[in-house]
Amino acid sequence: MDKLEFLRRELESLREQSLFNEIRTIEGPQGAWIMVNGKKVLNLCSNNYLGFANHAELKEASKKAVDEYGVGPGAVRTIAGTQTIHLELERKLAEFKHAEACIALQGGFVANLAVIPAVTGEGDIIFSDELNHASIIDGCRLSRARVVRYAHNDVADFRRKIIENKDSARRMLVVTDGVFSMDGDIAPLPDIVDVADDYGVIVMVDDAHGEGVLGDSGRGIVNHFKLEGKVEIEVGTLSKAFGVMGGYITGPRVLIDYLKQKGRPFLFSTGLTPADTAAAIAAVDVLAKSDELVKKLWSNAVYFQEKLKDAGFDTGHTETPITPVMLGDEKTASMFSRKLFDEGVFAQSIAYPTVPRGKARIRCMLSAAHKKEDLDFAINAFLSVARELGI
Ligand SMILES: *Cc1c(COP(=O)(O)O)cnc(C)c1O
Repeated sequence: MDKLEFLRRELESLREQSLFNEIRTIEGPQGAWIMVNGKKVLNLCSNNYLGFANHAELKEASKKAVDEYGVGPGAVRTIAGTQTIHLELERKLAEFKHAEACIALQGGFVANLAVIPAVTGEGDIIFSDELNHASIIDGCRLSRARVVRYAHNDVADFRRKIIENKDSARRMLVVTDGVFSMDGDIAPLPDIVDVADDYGVIVMVDDAHGEGVLGDSGRGIVNHFKLEGKVEIEVGTLSKAFGVMGGYITGPRVLIDYLKQKGRPFLFSTGLTPADTAAAIAAVDVLAKSDELVKKLWSNAVYFQEKLKDAGFDTGHTETPITPVMLGDEKTASMFSRKLFDEGVFAQSIAYPTVPRGKARIRCMLSAAHKKEDLDFAINAFLSVARELGI
């Protein structure tokens, strides 16, 4: 008897619905141009917003750290795995984010699993934007708190949900993505903070797509809206604009002290490697020194989005370098992506369940690593595929 037959059937059904995820392999480092299937293609898929994933200074820092600290920390942070550079990274990130303190973890996903169940539990209510990232959803589930979803970026609905539910709650937390990764829109954080303050709701933002992108030198959404000191919990990732691997939480010292005692992935899973830690430190240093890469990223984004709109494409309601090209039907989006690839442009289609059914799109991720010629090349490819498919 094949006990895993149900998995085979499930995969078959994904293929039939064009929902099967073909995973491409990148043969070499990240960059504006990458090798895929032996073909050099323009990369419009990575979260390498600033080109840090293959940056000379970051690579140098990693190599040095391996010589100085070895390849692995050897234990969980709380037992014997906290090395000097972990503390240096936490200090630098806290300073960069203008926060009191920071705790570094193995990823942004893990950071959400660490912080949400640590600060909420049975009897509490979490207000969660309906489009929040999967790691927030999982963190909420692990917490055993009651989750009340509010309509996307809808502060009036958030307030309504507080009023309806507050009497049954011990404590309340609101959590939102800072920048929503599938549409590129930004959470109305100042209004969320105002409403939350009226009812004593703790505010948490996951700034995975905001840091390196929004705010002064890429300090993120809290800096962008001048809300420093008004958002209790800020989650970040080292795996996107920072170009490396890892995640972190910044906030008041009492929160970070508590997470070092109670954050389960901190207590029961080994921390970042010296190479990752050193590269992340170098990324913060590069950003703190100059906002040149952040500016380049934005000028690329503005240029690319204007050209696409001029050509008649629907880029949704993005407010950031994340550029969705809305196509609607799953099959069309997936065919569009394949044909772009033939034209030398690597831009993945995103479909259900990542976005709602019928809202499939090609998602283009801009980077400071792109040159203007690269973007022109991409626009021409979009036009030629659209003509071919009669869109
Ligand atoms: C990508 C992402 C994460 C996960 O970060 P990793 O460092 O890759 O684990 C978490 N939250 C949001 C909103 C993200 O976009």
